[in-house]
Amino acid sequence: MTNHDIVVINAGSSSIKFAAFDLDNGLQKKLSGSVENINTAPVIKIKNTEGQSLLAEHYSTPQNYAFFYDFIFAFFASQQIDIIAVGHRVVHGGKDYHQPVRITPKIIQDLKALIPYAPLHQPYNVEAIEIIAEHFPKTPQVACFDTAFHWTHPPIADMFAIPKALSHEGICRYGFHGLSYEYILSQIQLREPQKAKGRIIIAHLGNGASMCAVKAEKSIDSTMGFSTLDGLVMGTRPGNLDAGVLLYLMEFKKMDFKALQTMLYQQSGLLGVSGLSNDMRTLEEVELTQPDAKTAIDLFVYRIQREFGGLMSVLQGCDLFIFTGGIGENSHEIRSRVCQKLDWCGIYLEDRFNRENQPVISTPDSKIEVQVIPTNEELIIAKHTAKVLSLLR
Ligand code: ADP
Repeated sequence: MTNHDIVVINAGSSSIKFAAFDLDNGLQKKLSGSVENINTAPVIKIKNTEGQSLLAEHYSTPQNYAFFYDFIFAFFASQQIDIIAVGHRVVHGGKDYHQPVRITPKIIQDLKALIPYAPLHQPYNVEAIEIIAEHFPKTPQVACFDTAFHWTHPPIADMFAIPKALSHEGICRYGFHGLSYEYILSQIQLREPQKAKGRIIIAHLGNGASMCAVKAEKSIDSTMGFSTLDGLVMGTRPGNLDAGVLLYLMEFKKMDFKALQTMLYQQSGLLGVSGLSNDMRTLEEVELTQPDAKTAIDLFVYRIQREFGGLMSVLQGCDLFIFTGGIGENSHEIRSRVCQKLDWCGIYLEDRFNRENQPVISTPDSKIEVQVIPTNEELIIAKHTAKVLSLLR
């Protein structure tokens, strides 16, 4: 029997994450995997839906991306996975792409033109699309954009106060993590449609972290801006940083573009402040003995508190606060510390619910309900892909 499967690809600067979904079975996930450390010593791992390992291979030398796409597609074929379409996470859709689209040569050109806006992510997204188009020319591909969910922002939310010619060129705020926010909103719409119509703040706290204000089922502001550097403290990125700091570093520390880029994307955030790790679990484990780990966590929490106030003001209140992402879904400690800082607006957590990662973690009398919803960006990409290609039965 022929299967009908959709493959989702999330290509990054040193990794490829992928999953296969069964179209004939309500888009149930069949397999997922990752290739890490592509530029150094690649490791490819594939597991089934029960989390059991199906394959784990280590390479001692770098391999190119094309090698791994061939490998992954050959592995899928060996597992009777019949790929009828591929959906991609594409970080930047610019001003023109507000919806997922079927990829054509013209769209590839448009996505390439956006590379300067996301130089550390977009090239890998485009490369994945091109390699797959070349090696599997009959397989349709769909691009799903991390910026698209935010196109409903009021224009004022996305403006920088810079000379208007620059703004007209597209130097403005875009917002990211849109596929995650879209998934979270879709879950609320499904379970509690009335609540979805309210004022919602979603905190996506992972290695990358941002927050989004949703009103009447639309994003109206987000903490990430022109790039993925803005807003909250992240694993290795600083979040909000006075542009004057960059001028100072260029002028007086003679840091060039590459040095600044490395500092901003790889050496800052939790890692930079703690001097130890970008991983929240590690920092939580050592914070009692390592003061810098505690400072990093305190700053992470403080910035969430600060951004929450801004987004709540933009929303004119808040009815629902949602945690998601690796930290948001798993760290009761961070959720507890964030919510303690927000008791001024009537947020109260039920300690047991919070420790158990229950879906609702606030007390019944909390003025703002607090929920934990695991995100699923892969599934939303699979759904979009099926919809754009009219594959849904
Ligand atoms: P990415 O942005 O790369 O997708 P994730 O959403 O997977 O990242 O989040 C990774 C972060 O989640 C890491 O900082 C990790 O330490 C943190 N994390 C995962 N599980 C826990 C946990 N149980 N407690 C604290 N932090 C956790």
